[in-house]
Amino acid sequence: MIGDTTKGTVVDLRSDTVTRPSAAMRQAMAQAQVGDDVFGDDPTVNRLQAKIAEMLGFERALLFPSGTQSNLAALMSHCGRGDEYLVGQEAHTYRFEAGGGAVLGSIQPQPIANRPDGTIDLAMVEAAIKPDDPHFARTRLLALENTIGGKEIPRSYLEQALLLAKKKNLSTHLDGARIFNAAVKLGVSAKELCRGFDSVSVCLSKGLGAPAGTVLLGNADFIKLAVRARKILGGAMRQAGIIAAAGLYALENNVERLAQDHANAERLAKGLREAGYEVEGPQTNMVFVKAPPGFADHLVNNEILVLAGPRMRLVAHLDVDSAGIDRALAAVRSFALSPA
Ligand SMILES: *Cc1c(COP(=O)(O)O)cnc(C)c1O
Repeated sequence: MIGDTTKGTVVDLRSDTVTRPSAAMRQAMAQAQVGDDVFGDDPTVNRLQAKIAEMLGFERALLFPSGTQSNLAALMSHCGRGDEYLVGQEAHTYRFEAGGGAVLGSIQPQPIANRPDGTIDLAMVEAAIKPDDPHFARTRLLALENTIGGKEIPRSYLEQALLLAKKKNLSTHLDGARIFNAAVKLGVSAKELCRGFDSVSVCLSKGLGAPAGTVLLGNADFIKLAVRARKILGGAMRQAGIIAAAGLYALENNVERLAQDHANAERLAKGLREAGYEVEGPQTNMVFVKAPPGFADHLVNNEILVLAGPRMRLVAHLDVDSAGIDRALAAVRSFALSPA
């Protein structure tokens, strides 16, 4: 459909999920000690879960095949049938997970508009909390996301949101698929950004470069519920140490380097602006560009892989180096912009 992405000349800017495990990561996977994780026997899974729990300041962690499943298991662990979660209109858990909370958890979402900076207005959150009345779903959970649309959410906002949730007796979940991008950008630890949330979901398969895997974090009681939800959802894996080994490698080698992706995204945005394009961002690893008709096709024909759309998202990641950014910008410059 879009050409041979294994060719060295192709620059794939569609997502940071397109990264392939490096030779060293593959070696770690091949050498991983494994066991049956459904019995809790996989030493590599146990090591990954212990390490990330330590890193992010939680009692326990649980490995999932995907972020969608980890988020859904979190929703199902916080909320029961007829409960409700408050969530951003643009949030992955609401918008991009096929309505799983409603479909499989009988949980009602209450979406709230995201502001341009990615946050949701806490006065609107407070106003959306339903009174205890049989007419209403029971509002149980506030779900946030960091980064959201490539925007990092600072600790000061999280602090306010957590305070409100506490005051209103709501549980809190953070979709931290790209929490390390936020941490690297803000120059704070990921632990600091996670502090106070009842649960956090962290993807290993985005900018961290693992082929699969997401970790859900929480206290021991919460993780016990999440183990059950994961079983219901079919996500309990057997010799999952092969995947966990990639995750461990990613945590040890691919966190600090996210700064390079942010710098590459900056350079891409600068080049696009110089070529006359209207650009938003980047704040972390994502650039959004207003794409004229034919722009996406032109890029793809020049081996720069992008997803077509009027507001085109371009994502920097560890499989695009600065030479790749240069090739992308050369393709951008060879597309004649008609005068506005
Ligand atoms: C990618 C992503 C997920 C889901 O992860 P998958 O592994 O693709 O299911 C969840 N939340 C956010 C913010 C994401 O970017």
